[in-house]
This record gives sequence, structure tokens and C-alpha cells, in this order.
Amino acid sequence: GLVILWPALAAADYIKYRDPKQPTNARIRDLMNRMTLQEKIGQMVQIERTVASPQVMKNYFIGSVLSGGGSSPGVNASAQEWIKMVNQFQRDALSTRLGIPMIYGIDSVHGHSTVYNATIFPHNIGLGATRDPELVKRIGAATALEARATGIPYLFAPCVAVCRDPRWGRCYESYSEDPEVVRSMTEIVTGLQGDIPSTSPKGVPYVGGKTKVAACAKHYVGDGGTVNGINENNTILSRHGLLSIHMPGYYASIIKGVSTVMVSYSSWNGDKMHGNRDLITGFLKGTLRFRGFVITDWEGLDRMTSPRHANYSNSILRGINAGIDMIMVPMKYKEFIDDLNQLVTNHEIPMSRIDDAVRRVLRVKFTMGLFENPLADETLVNHLGSHEHRELGREAVRKSLVLLKNTNSMLPLPKKGSKILVAGTHADNLGYQCGGWTIQWQGQSGNNATVGTTIMNAIMNTVDKQSSQVVYQENPDTKYLRSEGFSYAIVVVGELPYAETKGDNMNLTIPEPGPTMIKNVCRAVKCVVVVVSGRPVVIEPYLKWIDGLVAAWLPGTEGQGVADVLFGNYGFSGKLPRTWFKSVDQLPMNVGDEHYDPLFPFGFGLTTEPTDDSN
Ligand code: BGC
Repeated sequence: GLVILWPALAAADYIKYRDPKQPTNARIRDLMNRMTLQEKIGQMVQIERTVASPQVMKNYFIGSVLSGGGSSPGVNASAQEWIKMVNQFQRDALSTRLGIPMIYGIDSVHGHSTVYNATIFPHNIGLGATRDPELVKRIGAATALEARATGIPYLFAPCVAVCRDPRWGRCYESYSEDPEVVRSMTEIVTGLQGDIPSTSPKGVPYVGGKTKVAACAKHYVGDGGTVNGINENNTILSRHGLLSIHMPGYYASIIKGVSTVMVSYSSWNGDKMHGNRDLITGFLKGTLRFRGFVITDWEGLDRMTSPRHANYSNSILRGINAGIDMIMVPMKYKEFIDDLNQLVTNHEIPMSRIDDAVRRVLRVKFTMGLFENPLADETLVNHLGSHEHRELGREAVRKSLVLLKNTNSMLPLPKKGSKILVAGTHADNLGYQCGGWTIQWQGQSGNNATVGTTIMNAIMNTVDKQSSQVVYQENPDTKYLRSEGFSYAIVVVGELPYAETKGDNMNLTIPEPGPTMIKNVCRAVKCVVVVVSGRPVVIEPYLKWIDGLVAAWLPGTEGQGVADVLFGNYGFSGKLPRTWFKSVDQLPMNVGDEHYDPLFPFGFGLTTEPTDDSN
């Protein structure tokens, strides 16, 4: 009797979905057979960390938690504090009946950018200027490590938007106006998630273990094509136009095994993307065979109507039946859960649709090993802001700089024997240098925003201390300038940090005192103007006074890369990732347009050779 009984007991204990030796599909099937509708709906809900109490996590079987818009447990929170927070949510999730791990997500869109002391890489526009996909892959790998160092396994990146109008407040989140450049930069997906095995079937998500993260290609689709660059607006294009301009980033990300895709707030020809069944279920899940999960944008279903959250049940019906699998922050999550339950019970949303959504969410969780390793690996904390990653950031900054003007080859500048004035609002401001999505949603100002090197400090570090003198004056007056006998000035000006709609800007002028300073300083001494901005800005009226002009984009924490190139340790190599207009009246204007009359064309960028140390 015993001999027969013992294996029978063992079999009863055996939980198939918990067995990592089982194929993923078998684990998913086994787990789903055990799940109630309530538990399934929970997997489709992503809530903000501030509402995710232990009771909420457990009572609603919440499948995902996020830091929205840079929401952190404290602006200076350490890796250990982040880990503590994320692990707590995970323990809550694991303590439910089936113990399904939650997945924590965050916007690490230029490095692990919400976290103090992380390496902040150039924003995507600067990476687009490098034209270096292999570099961008390494940045993805570094970002994944830094995220995992804080216990976070899921990033809402990359943004594969093709920004067609720089007036758009998210232009800097776009690698380029050119679909081909955006496509090539999806190599970041491979860096974030790991190299997809050649045997992996097309469209199946892939995340290579504990040092990698699940990525998210966003915002599907046409976010960068809206009228006048107005955020979350309407993209008017033929189907062919939409597919050829805005889709290549998705084709490429899916081939690389991207785990998730985020839907855009914007509309296509008047229809909200969040309700577009043809493009989500038909094209993305059908034609492209995407097998990861589709997530809404923040309150995406609520924002299908104006005013928000009106006729909500109908928005849920449309969105879920369109093929959305996970809902990022329903404005009222309890209402969402109840309404969805009702819609399923009434057969307005078929059970098969819910099963499809849950299967996709679970597939990502199983694939990335979350069931086996749900908690943070604390041995990784030293990767946050590591020397190696900062060196990589510095390399990226060097390669992202675009030299637009270089009268009499004044660049590179000599390190020895000069008296240099460094001026401008952006010369010594780490927060400005990093731009939006840094520590907080709208970015920061000042040098205590996080840890890094300002352009000013970088210049100080680079010149020969014996024979050169650097004087920093944020806004010098003209008389002083003429009396001091400077060899030249380096003027660093630009945009103030912004994110999303707050960045929509119809005039694109450099804020004062930038333009006045360019005028005053550059008329008095030979000058190099470094523009720190998320996009081309109005520069044409001042160009006549400027001797050297450098587009530095939003370089991030490693300002040393700027000085490396200004002083010839490395050459300039960056190429414009987008067209630089003369006047905003020309916008939108993209390469290939019929009446193309830019100040500097797409792809433009002067080069310099590195100099040796003797000058
Ligand atoms: C943005 C997304 C972002 C999300 C979460 C939204 O407002 O559009 O890009 O991932 O917030 O912070």
C-alpha cells in the first residue's frame, strides 16, 4: 500500500506551473486552469505604487505596479530603498492563493532616470545623432542592470516614435524624424532584454534572465505624427503612410522579442488608438504575430472620451475588445474591475479575449523568470551609476554632439595657454543638462538633482591647469567681456526641462537670457555656442555672430563627454537626426519633403580630428 500511496501524494503536491522544467505554454495552461475570473482580471491591472497597499494587492490580485511619471519613494532614494519598496509589493502578490508574481514597471527612458545616482544617458534624440546601434545596445544593457540593481524588471522604453514635427513636447524621446534611423536604434531592445535565441519563434517575447528587463515599444502607433506636433492629438495619414513612417520601429522591436507594446493616446484619422482593433489585434497581434502584452498608456481607457472617464464601461468594452491586455492606471481601478467583470459576465467581452490577455501577461512573467526569481537580486546594487556605466554615458555624449558651424576651424579648442569664459544658464546645471524624465516627470533644475558632471566642471577638468584659465559667469556684462582679454567664450544655452504636453511649443525660441547672451558675448569675443535642447531651436537670427555651433541635445549626467570633444580629445562625429529649420513657419519639414529648405539638413554634421596633447 505505502509504495503505491507515496508517489500518489507526491503527484498531488506537484504544481505544474511552478516547475521551470515545463515548457512555458504548459505552465501557462496549467496556471490558467486554476484561475478564477477575479484572478484573471487582476493580472490585467497595473496600479500606481502609491495606491498599491497590501490589502489592495491581495484583494484584487493585482498583476502589476508602476512608478508613473517618475514617482519614487523619495527623490534621493537609494537602491536599497527602491528594493525594499518593490520587494514589499512582490511579497504581497506572492502571498495570494496562486502566488503569481507582480511585475513592477518604470519609465527609464534615458538610463534608469527616476533613480538618484543612476547614469543618465543622452535622451533618444542625442542617441539618434550617434547613428551607432551597437552603442545604443550597450546603453540598453547598462540601463537594464541599473534597473535590476533597484529590483525593477520592466521598463516603459524604448520610445520608437518618429517625431515629424519638433514642436511636439516629446520630440527628444524620438531618435529621429527618419523611420530608418528609428528602426536601427531598436537595437536598444536587445540591450535591455538580451539577444534573442535564433530558435525563438517570431513575435514571442524574450528576456534573458536576472540582469535583463522586459522592454516596451511605445506609443503604438503614430504618436510622433500628430497635427502641428500637438501631444496626444490626431495623426492624419493614409494607411500606407502610417505603416511606412511610424511602423518600422515596431517591426524591428518585435523581431528582437520585445515583451510589451504601449498604445498611444493619439488618434489616427480621428479614431483613438486605444480602441483600434484593426491595428492592435489585426495588425500587431495578427500580421506581426506579436505574442507579448499590449498595455494602455496612463489612464488610457479613461482618456478615450472627453471629458475623461465618461461612458467608461463603453471605453473598457472598446479597449479590451480592441486587444488591450493590461490597463495602466485605470482612474478608478475598483470601478474598472467591476465593470470588466460585468462585461465578461454579460458576454459583451468574450472569455477568450480575457484568456488571451492573461496568457500574454503570464508569458512575459514566465519567460523572464519572475516565478523563479521574484525578488530583487541585491548583489546587483553596485551597478547603479557605476564607473563603467558613466564611461559609457560619456562615450555616448561624445558621439551625440553635432557640429553645425566651425568658422576658421576654431574647434577643437586648445587646452593650453588660453583664457576661457564659460557663460550661460546651461553651463553649470545638471538638471537642465538631463532634461525631462529625470528624477521627476518634468525634470529638475540645479546641480543637486542627481550625481554627475556639468559641462562647466568638465571644461575645468579638461584644460591645462598650468597655462589656461577658466572663468565662469552665468550672465556676463559686455564691458567686462571686452576688458578681460578672453581668447574666446563658450556659451551654453538651451531649453528648460519639460515632458509631454508641457513641452509642446509653437515658437521654439531659446528662452532668455539665452539669445541676448549669445548676442552680447559673441559680438565681443570669439565664441562657441553649445545648445542644450531636446530639438532644433531658433538659431538662424544669431548665426552670423557665432563662430562655433554645437548641438549637444540633452546629454545627461556625463557632461565630460562635451569637453572631451570641444578640446579635441576626440573628434566631432554626430549627424543631425532631424532637420534644423530656419523658421518655425516652415514646420513641419522633414527630409524628403518637396519644399525642403532647412538651415541645416537632416544628416548634416561637420567633423574634426582629435588633436594630440601638445596643444
Ligand atoms: C506617458 C508614457 C509613460 C506613462 C507612465 C504617460 O503619461 O505617455 O510614456 O510611460 O505616462 O509614466
